[in-house]
Formats: sequence, structure tokens, C-alpha cells
Amino acid sequence: MSSDDALSWTNWARTASATPRRRASPRDEAELGGLVARAAAEGMPVRAVGAGHSFTPAAVTDGLLLDLDRLSLVERIARGGADGTDGDAILVTVGAGIRLHRLNEALAAAGLAMRNLGDIDRQSVAGAISTGTHGTGARLGGLATQVRGVRVVGADGEVRETSPAHEPGLFEVSRLGLGVTGILSAVTLEVVPAFLLRAQEEPWPLDRVLERLGTPDDPDGLVGGNDHFEFYWFPHTRRALTKRNNRLAPDEEAVELERLRTTGPGPVARARTWVDEELLSNGAFELVNRLATAVPRVTPRLNAVSARALAPRTYVAPSHHVFVTSRRVRFREMEYAVPREHLVDVLSSIDAWLDRSGEHVPFPVEVRFAAPDDVWLSTAHGRETAYVAVHQYARLPHERYFDAVERIVAEVGGRPHWGKMHGLAADRFRELYPRFDDAVAVRDATDPEGVFANGYTDRVLGPAPAARR
Ligand SMILES: Cc1cc2nc3c(=O)[nH]c(=O)nc-3n(C[C@H](O)[C@H](O)[C@H](O)COP(=O)(O)OP(=O)(O)OC[C@H]3O[C@@H](n4cnc5c(N)ncnc54)[C@H](O)[C@@H]3O)c2cc1C
Repeated sequence: MSSDDALSWTNWARTASATPRRRASPRDEAELGGLVARAAAEGMPVRAVGAGHSFTPAAVTDGLLLDLDRLSLVERIARGGADGTDGDAILVTVGAGIRLHRLNEALAAAGLAMRNLGDIDRQSVAGAISTGTHGTGARLGGLATQVRGVRVVGADGEVRETSPAHEPGLFEVSRLGLGVTGILSAVTLEVVPAFLLRAQEEPWPLDRVLERLGTPDDPDGLVGGNDHFEFYWFPHTRRALTKRNNRLAPDEEAVELERLRTTGPGPVARARTWVDEELLSNGAFELVNRLATAVPRVTPRLNAVSARALAPRTYVAPSHHVFVTSRRVRFREMEYAVPREHLVDVLSSIDAWLDRSGEHVPFPVEVRFAAPDDVWLSTAHGRETAYVAVHQYARLPHERYFDAVERIVAEVGGRPHWGKMHGLAADRFRELYPRFDDAVAVRDATDPEGVFANGYTDRVLGPAPAARR
């Protein structure tokens, strides 16, 4: 193996790669600070990588590439009013490199859980929050909304403690800012007591789903009437798979907890969700995609079969088992946050474009929901949000499809996921985010030399002051 091979890095989706001059995995904050300061003094750019699950070249650098896999301990759990926490809040401080699945296990062992999660758990906490990773739930925000403090290492190698009360601007851009303020070494999250979810998974006609979406405050609608609602629409069909995950009433939860304690999770929960094992990640779905690649015109028929193939089912399991799935079929993804009220129009425009274009897409479109939040660079900043995620099988071209969807969502002010494919640049983000200039000002003040910049951050936030001179 050449030294370049030893240094080279590729992301999960194989859409980004790098050959940095140096790679390192510091053991503690002191070593991390030393590595960053030395690289900065040599004029070398520095980036960190988590699990490499971003589709964008967000983590790429030709300088020093750090992983924080060894900074992954649970440092501290502070409950209800103790140690400076507010009221009933439960705060957990973890090393920024901890993977979500390890965090979930550690929280479960302490009787705790994340309030909401996305649909995989392979990411690092730092990587997940830095790109605005989210799950679904019209009354809930993404992972960055659960962050209460961040420790960040600057170009001088010094560690800065940030929180809403202490250096709030730096806190904002550190909790969701692609790592442009420095290397995150620890994150404090607000978590909740462990809870169970009842998962109901059912194929529905798409039109029934769209008619019954409702608003977030309508308890009879799908969006407002469920704690976590999402659906997968199969392009070229009018079929969808729906997922409704709801917390149990306290008395019901007590009974279920006792059952889980004595008899274990039961066959359905052990088999995990059908959207996970039976649809999106299994060998059969890989075969469906290979067939669609070889004979594109059969895609609509394959999608119709996939959408009907799965039987409805209901089960109860701990929240992190219900939220999280695994994805083994490799794909490319673009996801846009659109104002929730435009969702139906956006989907019908995508449907009409697919009809007109003759493009074939074997992967379902995933639709999720989030509450408005106040995180400066959050895709749900200030508005009720629906997320429309379009996927394409990795062996099929995605460009024409993604470009078309990007044009459709542009008309309703769509904001792309920071970690998923898109074609936007800083000028457009300035129009889309009311606090964009505030975020750039924090970045400019914290990292004027652009030590923590790369081509992607230059594109989406604009270059650091030194590069503008
Ligand atoms: C199969 C799959 C499923 C997904 N599901 C979802 C989902 O359900 N919801 C959703 O919103 N997204 C989802 N994503 C996107 C994913 O959550 C984000 O791209 C996330 O950033 C990946 O985390 P990571 O640890 O791999 O970070 P990376 O991709 O490695 O890094 C992301 C960014 O964070 C920076 N970074 C990482 N660590 C640090 C650090 N310590 N300090 C400073 N900066 C740092 C990197 O430089 C980079 O800019 C999915 C992606 C895949 C491949």
C-alpha cells in the first residue's frame, strides 16, 4: 500500500474523496489542540470527519484530516436542576466523536433516550449536528435543537466552552455549521427519560395520505395526530408506505415495559421494521434496483410491486430501535426542506416531471416533518417544514432527476440538507436564511484565516476573510 493509500479517504456514498497530507486520531483534547495549532502554524487547513455519511464533500481536505473516534466517552450526566441544569432538564455531555448507536446504548443503560432521531445511527454526534441531521415529528426539531453546549477547539489550539449563555454566536455556528468554527471536541445534549414507541407501518394510496396530512395543530391529521409521521412515495405509482410512531400512554407503557422486561422484544421488534429490513436494506431491494438498472422501462411495475409487497404491521419497542434502520443498498440522495404548506404541490410537480421526462426511479421519495426552530442555519429555521428526500440507486444516473427536483423546490424557497447533494451556493443561502450573515460574521471572526475551510464551505458560506483579500 502506498502512503497515499494509507491517507486516502472516501465517504459512504462514494461521492467525495480526499488525500490529506496528514491524518490523526487524537486521544484527548490536549492532543487535539496541539495537532490543530501545529497544522494552523504551518498554514495547513484542518477538517474533522465523523462517519463520512455526508453525500457532500463537507469533510474533504488536503491538509490535516482528524477523526474523533477516540473522543467518544460519556463524560457527564446531569439531572434535573443539579450541576447548573435548568428545571427538569437532563443534560448529557459526550465526546464529539461518539457514534449515535453507542450514544443510544449508553443512554438506554442510564434509563434515558434522545427525544428524536434520524433514520440511521451510524453517524458521529459532531457530524450529525454539524449538517442539521433530523428525523420526523411536526412538534420536534432536528438534533441540533437538542444541543445545549459545545466545546470547540480553535486554530490556536485553545478549547472554548460555548452555550446559549456563553458566547451564544459561537455556540450557534458550532452546533450547526459544518465545522467552520473549529473542531468540536464535546457536545452537551438535552435528553429525556427512556420511552417506548408504538410503530404502525402500512401501505396506503398516496392520495389518501395527501388528503389526510392536516396541519401540525390538527389532532385528526397524519402530521399533527402522530408524534412521528413519515411516508415513502413510490415514483411512477400512486402508492405510499406510511410510518406512524407514537408514544404510549403512561399506564400502557408500564404494562409494555414489564412485558419487554420479562419476555424480550418479541419477534416483530427483533426483526426490526419492514421499511428497514424488508424494503430498503435487504437483498431483494438490491435486486429490484439492479433489474431497474438493466431494464429501466420495468421500473414503474417494480415500484408498484414493492409498494404493495409488504403487509401492515404494528409493534412496540424502545424509541431508538423504532427510529433507526440500516441502509445497505448504496444510493445518492438530495433532500430539501420546504415550507410544509407547499408539500403537496411539490410532490405533484415531481410526479408530473417524471411522467414527462421518461426518467426511471426505483427508489422511494421519503417525506418527513419538523417544527420551526431558531437554530441559525437549521433547514427548519423559522418555518413549519416538510422534508422531501429524493434518492437514486448508486449505479443509475441521478443528475437529471435531482436537477429537476431542485428547480421545483427552488420555487417555494427550498433549503437543502447541508450533508446531502445539492447545487446551491452562498448567494442563494443568504436569501434563504435570515441569520445567514450573522453566521458568516461569526465564522469570519473565529477563523479569519480559513484554517477550517474547504471547497465546500467556501461554496456554501463564501470564503474566509484571508481568501477574500
Ligand atoms: C444511509 C444514510 C442515512 C441518512 N439518514 C439521515 C436522516 O435520517 N436524517 C438526516 O438528516 N440525515 C441523514 N443522513 C445524512 C447524515 O446524517 C449527515 O450527512 C451527517 O452529517 C453524517 O454524520 P457523519 O458523522 O458521517 O459526519 P461526516 O459526514 O463525517 O461530517 C459531516 C460534517 O461535519 C463535520 N464534522 C464532523 N466531525 C466534526 C468535529 N468533531 N468537529 C467539527 N466538524 C466536524 C465534517 O467536517 C463535515 O463538514 C443520512 C446519510 C446516509 C448515508
